[in-house]
Amino acid sequence: MPTLKFAVLAGDYIGPEVMTEALRVLEHVAKQEGLTLAYTKADVGGAGIDNHGKALPDSTLKICSESDAILFGSVGGPKWEKLPTLEQPERAALLPLRKHFTLFANIRPGLLYRELTDASPLKSERIPNGIDIVCIRELTGGLYFGKPKETTTLPDGDIQAVDTMVYRKSEIERITAAAIDAARARKKQLCSVDKANVLETSVLWRKTVTAYVAKHAPDITLSHMYADNAAMQLTRDPNQFDVFVTENMFGDILSDEMAAICGSLGMLSSASLGAGKNSLGLPFGLFEPAGGTAPDIAGKGIANPCAQILSVALMLRFSFGLEKIARRIEAAVKKAVTGGTRTGDIAFGKPSVGTKAMTDAIIAQL
Ligand code: NAD
Repeated sequence: MPTLKFAVLAGDYIGPEVMTEALRVLEHVAKQEGLTLAYTKADVGGAGIDNHGKALPDSTLKICSESDAILFGSVGGPKWEKLPTLEQPERAALLPLRKHFTLFANIRPGLLYRELTDASPLKSERIPNGIDIVCIRELTGGLYFGKPKETTTLPDGDIQAVDTMVYRKSEIERITAAAIDAARARKKQLCSVDKANVLETSVLWRKTVTAYVAKHAPDITLSHMYADNAAMQLTRDPNQFDVFVTENMFGDILSDEMAAICGSLGMLSSASLGAGKNSLGLPFGLFEPAGGTAPDIAGKGIANPCAQILSVALMLRFSFGLEKIARRIEAAVKKAVTGGTRTGDIAFGKPSVGTKAMTDAIIAQL
């Protein structure tokens, strides 16, 4: 069994609360499975600003660079919101981390257990068995990074702003490879989402995805869908997707829509995988809950730890190759929640438990 060497960046508000519980689950599993844990905690976000003067301190980046993965909490909150935009915890910590480690593949499971369908804004007839889909978003290219990106005053005095959507074939191929891996671990169905009817980048996207899948993954059933239709289909019948892959901006929007139809942010995890391999020859990645720091409930001991615990499972799967143990953790979360132990965000007015008791129930299932 490998030694798990990872950085723990808990962040702010509920970040440290749910991280403590996620580590408790991991310690428990490590003891059962004979894993050696070698993790190092470091400040990030507001904690980085308060203790080191910047959201991503050099010492934190060094610890991440010396690790095989990053387990991330969440950053930001009212305490730092008056800072200039570029110094804001999210902007100044997460974006540089993504850039530094070329975290190009954002994998977001959209998971809603059948027993929690009341948490979804969709009518339960549309999702009788809950929701179980995966969004793969390209994270380092496209409109958010393309140059030119500027605002200029024109000779006639009007003001013009430009963003540039740019993709290389090689960038599309590597996200397609990540999507194929995800599809192979599930039903071998992949839907590629683009706007090939109007965008040059999407024409290249569709051509490249089609050719890459035909050459490298003939076992995968590939379909294509326009992004506007995908937004509609997600609310009409989300389970028609199994795995869908899309470029950065479409993925930003569609993955948030997916989170909304899945109910509470407290249940959703995500993985951002890098171009580089870690010391085990597996993808280096950053694993985090989909939600933010939830300042409204911080310090009350009521935050849902499941998203952070499920992020641990993703880390074990992708960066440490421990699929069976990842599945054990996912099954324990599911059993605890569907068995009736719920934090307030998924209790629908029924009696609820706090962060620690929720974790105890998950550990009991392990
Ligand atoms: P949020 O996700 O923190 O909270 C939205 C709602 O969801 C709140 O009502 C909150 O209580 C609830 N919620 C979120 N996680 C929960 C959990 N684990 N258990 C129970 N309920 C939970 O979004 P927000 O309020 O818009 O943002 C708060 C701060 O978090 C902001 O500073 C924002 O910039 C930051 N943020 C950080 C990240 C990140 O670090 N990746 C992501 C999103 C937002």
